[in-house]
Amino acid sequence: MALKIEAGSCTVCGACEFECPNAAISMKGDTYIINPKMCTECDGDSPKCVGVCPTDACVPA
Ligand code: SF4
Ligand code: SF4
Repeated sequence: MALKIEAGSCTVCGACEFECPNAAISMKGDTYIINPKMCTECDGDSPKCVGVCPTDACVPA
């Protein structure tokens, strides 16, 4: 399981990139993406990216 970033909601603020414990979030083109192979949904903890995202752009994939 993994989360994804909705490009239409992402303001490219960059907050999530450094919160992800698995470095699953990176820039691609003009938005951020989550690599589904690296996202573990924070191993049962509340997802860090969801916690920091100001626009609720990180959602279940
Ligand atoms: S849910 Fe956790 S592991 Fe997955 S992208 Fe967000 S911060 Fe990274
Ligand atoms: S925290 Fe939210 S708005 Fe900011 S770059 Fe990440 S997904 Fe985009």
